Amino acid sequence: MAMQEQANPDILSRMMEVGSKVQPVSKESREKAPRVRGAKVVHSVCPYCAVGCSLNVYVKNGQVIDIEGDPDSFINHGTLCPKGSATFQYTVNPSRLTQVLYRAPYSDHWEVKSQEWAMEQIAQRVKKTRDETFVERLEDGREVNHTLAIASLGGATLDVEENYVIKKLFNAGLGIVSIENQARI
Ligand code: SF4
Repeated sequence: MAMQEQANPDILSRMMEVGSKVQPVSKESREKAPRVRGAKVVHSVCPYCAVGCSLNVYVKNGQVIDIEGDPDSFINHGTLCPKGSATFQYTVNPSRLTQVLYRAPYSDHWEVKSQEWAMEQIAQRVKKTRDETFVERLEDGREVNHTLAIASLGGATLDVEENYVIKKLFNAGLGIVSIENQARI
């Protein structure tokens, strides 16, 4: 018959603490905190699709440190689909392009250009194309004020405000008819 082991007094004392609802939590565990603690919360909208799930963007020292679903949203109640959950990686990513790259016709390489150069190129090309193709009236006399030579295809990462400006400027302002967006927000 095996001898009965003496209970270790330290373990016994801890078990009594547990029994009295004092949980065995280490100092390290006590000092752990979510990395978003103390961060500024900026409310935003997932840019990926027309469901428009609400996001909490956590910012510390001017840097986005995390993006999660907003639990107070009546749309998504804090949840995000796999695409929406990847918003942080889309925003904070060393592979993200942060410079304008231009490949000239027939060229085999990209050139880094300034944003001012790119904006000027776009403005000049849009103006030239519109000037050359703008139609005020059809042959039967109907007024159309449009150009069919320019189209806009937006991506789902355009937000609501950007799409509003695109629709207002391109359609009402420039007479561009073909405006499409994957997200359809
Ligand atoms: S992509 Fe997903 S998370 Fe984003 S708005 Fe659509 S359903 Fe919501």
